[in-house]
Amino acid sequence: MDELDLAALQSEAFQTDALNQFKRHRQPDNNPGTACIDCEEEIPLRRRQAIPGCLRCVDCQQQHETEAACC
Ligand SMILES: [Zn+2]
Repeated sequence: MDELDLAALQSEAFQTDALNQFKRHRQPDNNPGTACIDCEEEIPLRRRQAIPGCLRCVDCQQQHETEAACC
């Protein structure tokens, strides 16, 4: 590994750090992935615990299912 590779690596690490800090700053109370992908409202903790990895709030999930989409 020469100096150029090392510099690129450090730069990448710095950007990732800055990005993470930016995300944390924007969403102080939110963990990533806790917002409904349709309406972007926070999904209640109880729902997330009951359905790990769920992507939608109750309302949007029901609407999604009645629309008979593929996923
Ligand atoms: Zn929703």
